[in-house]
Amino acid sequence: MIIFKTTENLREYLKDKPASQGVVGFVPTMGALHRGHLSLVNLCRQQNTLTVVSIFVNPLQFNQKSDFDNYPSTIEKDMEMLIGAGVDVLFLPSEKEMYPDENKKVTYDLGYLDQILEGAQRPGHFQGVARVVDLLLQIVQPDNLYLGQKDFQQIKVIQRMIKLKGHHTKVVEAPLVREESGLAMSSRNERLSGTGRKKAAIIYKNLKTIKEEINEFPFSSLRKKAIDDLRKNGFKVDYIELATQKDLKLLNDFDNKIPSRVLVAAWIESVRLIDNIPIP
Ligand code: AMP
Repeated sequence: MIIFKTTENLREYLKDKPASQGVVGFVPTMGALHRGHLSLVNLCRQQNTLTVVSIFVNPLQFNQKSDFDNYPSTIEKDMEMLIGAGVDVLFLPSEKEMYPDENKKVTYDLGYLDQILEGAQRPGHFQGVARVVDLLLQIVQPDNLYLGQKDFQQIKVIQRMIKLKGHHTKVVEAPLVREESGLAMSSRNERLSGTGRKKAAIIYKNLKTIKEEINEFPFSSLRKKAIDDLRKNGFKVDYIELATQKDLKLLNDFDNKIPSRVLVAAWIESVRLIDNIPIP
């Protein structure tokens, strides 16, 4: 695995790669890697001749300084994992490298995506995501970009940014990877206590119940039941919403002709967790 810390060196390396070397796949991450990230890397390796991974904890996408300051960092372990997974190139830029001053002040027309769910709860978050992925795509210019369904709304945001900016990159979605308990794998899980981590599995349990019962009961009553259960167990719930799978339009109730998702964000032990489940 070759590690690049500067944009210039990475660009030069990628430019010199002969075209015959084929297809470039790219997996952007913020590090503190787990099996969820590795599933993207594995998919990328199967479908491309060159696999590029980035690790950059992007300050622009944190709407709370404490979340940024406490974001886990396990860089030595991450590098071992990436070498073990057969990654060709790791891009490890500094903040200065990604954001020389003129790079920061760009906004994207993300439409309603910026106003619902994570967009509503975390002002500026998706602008930061769009900015960093736009810059990374300009640098790496991959054929394929690998994104996890764990961050379902993020996929829609990045697809919109790609369209707005005319990037020639195809988005490949990878399924959400869970811990044995059902808890969606996340770097932020590392900040939970043992008890908190066990409790956090209740989020997925409630999503599964909604999925099982959605043909029988109105979504509003299932949502209320789930919120009550989560609150009883010490969670603070930001939202539980039903939305279309295709373009993430919020729905009041389920229509079994429309592929949908239930999405949730909830806090436990000052850690904010998100999850989602496809319906049906
Ligand atoms: P992050 O490091 O959290 O920014 O995530 C980097 C990429 O990994 C994003 O595309 C995430 O959606 C994806 N990812 C994170 N956790 C999971 C998971 N549990 N399952 C699948 N993909 C994931």
